[in-house]
Amino acid sequence: MTLGRFGLRRRNYDFPPYRPPSEANSLLLRVTRGCPWNRCTFCSMYKGQKFEIRPAEEVLEDIAIAKELYRDRVKTVFIGDSNSLVMNTETFVRILKALYESFPHIERVTSYGRAKTIVRKPEEDLKRLFQAGLSRLHVGLETGNKFLLHEIQKGATPEEMIEAGRKAKQIGFEYSLYVLLGLGGEDRWREHARDTAEVLNRIDPHFIRIRTLIPQPQSPLFEAMREGRFRLPSPETILKETRLLLETLEVTSQFLSDHISNLIPLYGKLPDEKERMIRMIDESLRTIEEDDHLRGEIEARRHLTHL
Ligand code: SF4
Repeated sequence: MTLGRFGLRRRNYDFPPYRPPSEANSLLLRVTRGCPWNRCTFCSMYKGQKFEIRPAEEVLEDIAIAKELYRDRVKTVFIGDSNSLVMNTETFVRILKALYESFPHIERVTSYGRAKTIVRKPEEDLKRLFQAGLSRLHVGLETGNKFLLHEIQKGATPEEMIEAGRKAKQIGFEYSLYVLLGLGGEDRWREHARDTAEVLNRIDPHFIRIRTLIPQPQSPLFEAMREGRFRLPSPETILKETRLLLETLEVTSQFLSDHISNLIPLYGKLPDEKERMIRMIDESLRTIEEDDHLRGEIEARRHLTHL
């Protein structure tokens, strides 16, 4: 089911500007605007947006509008923007309650969250959110390499990434982690792949979602690339990095390249489909070695997107 947005757009409804691709059919609900961190050097998503928490009454009004238009059709809800977990727990629970009361067929409520926030938020608060129906968290790992995490100013160490993932999973959340291929550039792709796999192995998230780095104008990493301080990796390097990542993974996660930035469509349940995905990578490496035209096409696809 695709949830029509036309009715909402004609009213005073506020939309989160970004959502995971897997939430394409969800009701989108904005409880905050922007990113309370806003420092990651590869990210340009909310650079012009001052962070604010929307007043609860405003959010409840949006829920009432959506209820009037789509009551029985809403099965999944995505809550934006970039880290809804910074919201006061009491207020968040009130919003979740209103959602479940308004839409009787809800199966999933999802939000982005930062690992550091999950580490800092009292377990009791996270449990209350889970019990109130927040069921899945999407978290940016990007890399498990300590040096790179520091370089990109992610604001969390590999240890904190592991702690956040284990804590959220133990409470019951479905945990979805994002990995940014290419972040190590031409010089550090091996460390990036190995250390990322190591952190993922320690968490064993439900989903591993890969994205491929395209430095965006307005992001510090774009400037670093222009000044020659960062060497964007070639398609071959990205594929080798992905291969090494997959080879090193020992998890039971769903592996998904559900984003247009990725070079090849790798989807599969680990560990069962690991070998098949590795064969696909090897095949792609052979093909682009022999076919310059295809290599050019693959390269061009990377530039079709904004992360
Ligand atoms: S990647 Fe996420 S946490 Fe980092 S600045 Fe962008 S929105 Fe904020």
